[in-house]
Amino acid sequence: MDSCSQPELLPVNQAIALMLEAITPITDTESVDLAASLDRVLAAPIYSAINVPGHDNSAMDGYAFLYADAANNTPLRLAGHALAGHPFKGELKTGECVRIMTGAVVPAGTDTVVMQENVNITGDKIDINPLPKPEANIRRAGEDIAIDSLVFETGKRISPIDIGLLASLGIAELNVFKRIKVAVFSTGDELKPLTQTLQAGDNLQVGEVYDSNRPTLIALLSRLAVDVIDLGCIADDPEKIADAFESAIAQADVVISSGGVSVGDADYTKPVLEKLGNINFWKVAMKPGKPFAFGALRKKTSGEGHKKNSAEQKGWFFGLPGNPVSSVVTYHQLVVPALRYLAGEVFEDAPVLSIATQTPLKKQPGRADYQRGKLITDDGENKVTTTGNQSSGVLSSLAQANCYLVLEQERASVAAGEKVNVVLFDRFLQ
Ligand code: AMP
Ligand code: MG
Repeated sequence: MDSCSQPELLPVNQAIALMLEAITPITDTESVDLAASLDRVLAAPIYSAINVPGHDNSAMDGYAFLYADAANNTPLRLAGHALAGHPFKGELKTGECVRIMTGAVVPAGTDTVVMQENVNITGDKIDINPLPKPEANIRRAGEDIAIDSLVFETGKRISPIDIGLLASLGIAELNVFKRIKVAVFSTGDELKPLTQTLQAGDNLQVGEVYDSNRPTLIALLSRLAVDVIDLGCIADDPEKIADAFESAIAQADVVISSGGVSVGDADYTKPVLEKLGNINFWKVAMKPGKPFAFGALRKKTSGEGHKKNSAEQKGWFFGLPGNPVSSVVTYHQLVVPALRYLAGEVFEDAPVLSIATQTPLKKQPGRADYQRGKLITDDGENKVTTTGNQSSGVLSSLAQANCYLVLEQERASVAAGEKVNVVLFDRFLQ
């Protein structure tokens, strides 16, 4: 039931705050090659040992000269060439210039480059017209990155561009936090796992559904550079659920399950989890995805996993609702921040845009809606629309979307033309 009269509902930002408060980020580190560092999280700051660019160099094809020599419009004598990778090695006398190509080191004794289009050549003499400003067309040593400057702080997740930047500094190896081990399983008697032995005619029986949450979650987790342990589908059977959890905790730092956390099913997982750790079954004030479980699981002290010597080893548990859209949205909104934090990443909240919706949006006050929408720019104007059926089982309206339309907890239905908060899907979802 959606209504304002659900005092036990936990707002999304409070749920995230409670999780981050409970979690201690990983401290174990390892060294990886730059080429293997994509999506990993830096465990130490990076300072530049060099200037980038390393030397003053030309931004143009043209001529390098000393500005004072050309100030009274006397022609300059060509004394040599400077090419990228082949600096001019001679010594310049007063009134001399050097033919220079883009990227070539600016020769000693020159301070200005004129582009070749503004030069007239007669024999070995050049006339400059018009004269550029003093010190024009030179890219200064260190203007991109200065020697000894801080390039990235601890907690930076490495992007493809970062790899380019680090390569430009000659950094071949990085100190990063170890990968978190995440065990994933689905619960539900109705679930049929996709296996290679599944034949075309091997149809679903009445009441069966293919397990779509687990492949989705495993694909989503690949964006976080964690090690995934796939524990398959588990039947709604207390013993089997207990076995699955024990096996998961033994192998992993984090256990993510889907299904069985709503009121009807909680009976199965709740008593099991009470024995294995300290789990909260939350009703989060979000739609889709009200039921959500989070807490600590006790690890056996046999030396498995990270932090071998700590007195109380903990694993973390995230229980997602079974409905496919709910499981994706709760994973993205609640689990991703927790996993990023656990992985040592330092990150900002996603930017929020305010855009008028083109379509009316149905809503009841009581929970924050994360409706699935499409943002387009049409004739210079940003427009959002709903992607249709917003039921928590309808994965197709999520697949068509590129953003959430986040409707505040107390808001009711929204008319076309009203502004709504739009949060673009980020790389952890797309
Ligand atoms: P539950 O949260 O276990 O009550 O499940 C809610 C709904 O989600 C039910 O319709 C389930 O059949 C469906 N569901 C649960 N787990 C999965 C899964 N792994 N893949 C697809 N649908 C699921
Ligand atoms: Mg179920």
